[in-house]
Amino acid sequence: MSKKVTVLGAGLVGTLLSIFLAKRGYNVHAYEGRPDLRKSQLEGGRSINLALSHRGLKALKAVGLEDEIKARCIPMPGRMIHDTAGNLDFHPYGKEGQFINSVSRSGLNELLLNEAEKAGVYLHFEHRCTRVDHQTTTAYFTTPQGSIEVNSDFVFGADGAFSALRNSFMRTDRFNYEQHYITAGYKELHIPATTKGEFAMDPHALHIWPRGKFMLIALPNLDKSFTVTLFLPFEGENSFASLQSPDQVLTFFNREFADAVPLMPDFVEDFFSNPTSGLVTMRCYPWVKQNCALIGDAAHAIVPFYGQGMNAGFEDCHVLNQLLEELGTLNAEVLSRYQEMRKPDAEAIADLALYNFIEMRDKVADPKFVLQKKIEKR
Ligand code: FAD
Repeated sequence: MSKKVTVLGAGLVGTLLSIFLAKRGYNVHAYEGRPDLRKSQLEGGRSINLALSHRGLKALKAVGLEDEIKARCIPMPGRMIHDTAGNLDFHPYGKEGQFINSVSRSGLNELLLNEAEKAGVYLHFEHRCTRVDHQTTTAYFTTPQGSIEVNSDFVFGADGAFSALRNSFMRTDRFNYEQHYITAGYKELHIPATTKGEFAMDPHALHIWPRGKFMLIALPNLDKSFTVTLFLPFEGENSFASLQSPDQVLTFFNREFADAVPLMPDFVEDFFSNPTSGLVTMRCYPWVKQNCALIGDAAHAIVPFYGQGMNAGFEDCHVLNQLLEELGTLNAEVLSRYQEMRKPDAEAIADLALYNFIEMRDKVADPKFVLQKKIEKR
């Protein structure tokens, strides 16, 4: 009989992991705390679109989704820098033909959920995991019908930055854990398509308005709108705390992002109605205890400035799949090699992401930095 695997979370990483395992013949059950996003219009609460890079694409390709995903992507071959006077400067990310992609979070999750079902994964929505007993590989859930417990051979915690599996690990011996919030947070805003139904700016770029301690960025969507994210300190001058009234918000945006203002007809209302969220790095180890393992943000939540959180989670799944290919079956050796291979990479990208906040908000506007990057590219 095939081994039973419980996957906590049917977000981006949980669904991709489930597909990899189901394709290898495991009996996979994915438990998602929220309702099925394909049937409800619940807002995810986090970035509407994401930058998908080569690493993430490689993992999607390995489950046969390359073409489906490419049809949903908008290539972004570089950054478009907006200065305070509205002048534009395009910085390519790499050589000609190299680019990252803007993709919708919910569109990608929907595609992965459909693919998981096709691969034979059992999806259980509105099942929120409360804890896991790693000694007995038992996961406990609350559901609209009451509490249940599920026994399986393996449990993967793909349940995000506030993982229930990681919380359970934290009550066990010799488990290290650290979380760190940076002083800035973020808020999402919106640039709609123009009245002629066109993109209001060049869609083939990640737009940045770098302003030292804060910045605005915008990524294109397939419906010709842009999702805009304001990264701003919580406290002090030019902070969320200093923007309390519509007048203060308007004055701040007119001074700092004047060329974006006419493109965002509802931004003042959006500013006050959309949530402000914190940005956290979470590091922990070990990721594996007996037959239970952390993966994706549950193992390594990072700040979004390198656009690599999801990509790193997808790479976790890909590496695990390669180990299964090599070693044949899911067992202690596979899980141990998985965590040993992935932890150094997770540490590196966590540090790079923190550093890249300084580069994006500050250095990309510095002429010396731009010149150096241009020379490096030659
Ligand atoms: P999540 O996406 O958090 O999914 C976890 C899932 O588990 C969710 O569906 C949740 O409902 C469910 N869940 C949670 N708790 C439970 C529970 N107890 N029981 C059952 N289910 C549960 N990454 C990139 O690669 N590129 C980007 O451009 C990018 N931009 C970002 C911008 C912002 C503003 C932010 C905040 C993040 C960004 N990221 C980006 C990071 C990316 O969002 C995450 O790395 C990615 O979502 C991680 O996927 P995951 O499946 O591990 O976790």
